[in-house]
Amino acid sequence: MKNIVVCLMPGAQFDKSTAGLLASARGLKGQLTVIVTGTAEDDTTASLANQADAVIVAEAVGLNEYQPELVLGVLQTVCSDLNPDIVLMAGDTYSQELTPRLAGRLGGVSAGDAQSLTLENDNLRITRSVYGGKAMAVVELRSTPAVVWVRARSFAPAAPRDSSGSIEKRTVELSGDAAKHVDATKIVERHEESSGTVRLEDAMVIVAGGRGLGGSEPFEELKSLAETMNAQQAASRAACDAGWVPPHWQVGQTGKKVAPELYVAIAISGASQHLMGIADAKVVTAINTDSDAPIFKHCQFGLVEDYKAVVGPLTERLKALLS
Ligand SMILES: Cc1cc2nc3c(=O)[nH]c(=O)nc-3n(C[C@H](O)[C@H](O)[C@H](O)COP(=O)(O)OP(=O)(O)OC[C@H]3O[C@@H](n4cnc5c(N)ncnc54)[C@H](O)[C@@H]3O)c2cc1C
Repeated sequence: MKNIVVCLMPGAQFDKSTAGLLASARGLKGQLTVIVTGTAEDDTTASLANQADAVIVAEAVGLNEYQPELVLGVLQTVCSDLNPDIVLMAGDTYSQELTPRLAGRLGGVSAGDAQSLTLENDNLRITRSVYGGKAMAVVELRSTPAVVWVRARSFAPAAPRDSSGSIEKRTVELSGDAAKHVDATKIVERHEESSGTVRLEDAMVIVAGGRGLGGSEPFEELKSLAETMNAQQAASRAACDAGWVPPHWQVGQTGKKVAPELYVAIAISGASQHLMGIADAKVVTAINTDSDAPIFKHCQFGLVEDYKAVVGPLTERLKALLS
């Protein structure tokens, strides 16, 4: 039976993404320990313990928010004690940053963007999409620990268990290799996304706009549509690079990978790098003036039309239907 560890970043909560990550670990049917870095609310640790054999809340001086070297040192120290075969991390940017570094510190191997996890010949095998979602690569990690980050919402949350695992609070003192470079980098400033919004990775409905909108004002029009649909707003890289919307709205290869039930692409051409971010969307719809736009080959419903003729009336019609 494999010894599996799931590592969570400071501030982790038991949300849909975390539940999916734990489900991916549980599917491997090993001994599962969750390491929560920093502090955690009691109801969070209780929910985690319901899905795992053990939860370790690993605290250290100064560890109340993400500081890469400090979190890395804590994870290295606790993982070294646990001697895992497999270490799983989430698909957020912090976890992605630390996955290969933790593998290096533990003398293991790493891979990212796992969309499925299986054991083959006693090795961890993952699949992940490549070439803009046109093909799936199978990667077998033939050394341990195999340290892997898992794409958000690739796994549905698992049902609650009848029993719960243990919860331990551990104060970690860094020493030796784990203490090295601990002050080398610091997050000096943080810009929080406005509170109350759902993370794009967790959104059920997304209304996204592209360069064809021509500026920042039309995104206000899309906002009204998004609010009516209870959707989150997103954008192509072209729209983000133009400064019309914030960079964290970007969906795609170098942006967020999303998996909504419905993705509405408005004035987005459907470049392969954008499509890579929506490969897991259940239903894609597109509005575009160009009938040859690649997005039409990747959507279930498409409308060849100027967005200006569609977005306003569609919003009003939806409002009327929903009222
Ligand atoms: C390494 C690399 C990584 C990248 N990563 C990403 C990424 O993560 N995400 C991403 O999105 N891109 C990414 N890109 C950029 C990508 O290649 C495209 O350039 C980008 O996605 C284009 O954005 P767009 O569809 O908004 O713009 P365009 O390709 O310019 O398309 C605009 C569309 O709007 C339509 N249109 C124009 N006017 C209207 C109107 N009035 N009504 C309706 N439709 C209209 C046009 O017909 C056109 O299809 C990456 C590129 C590289 C090289």
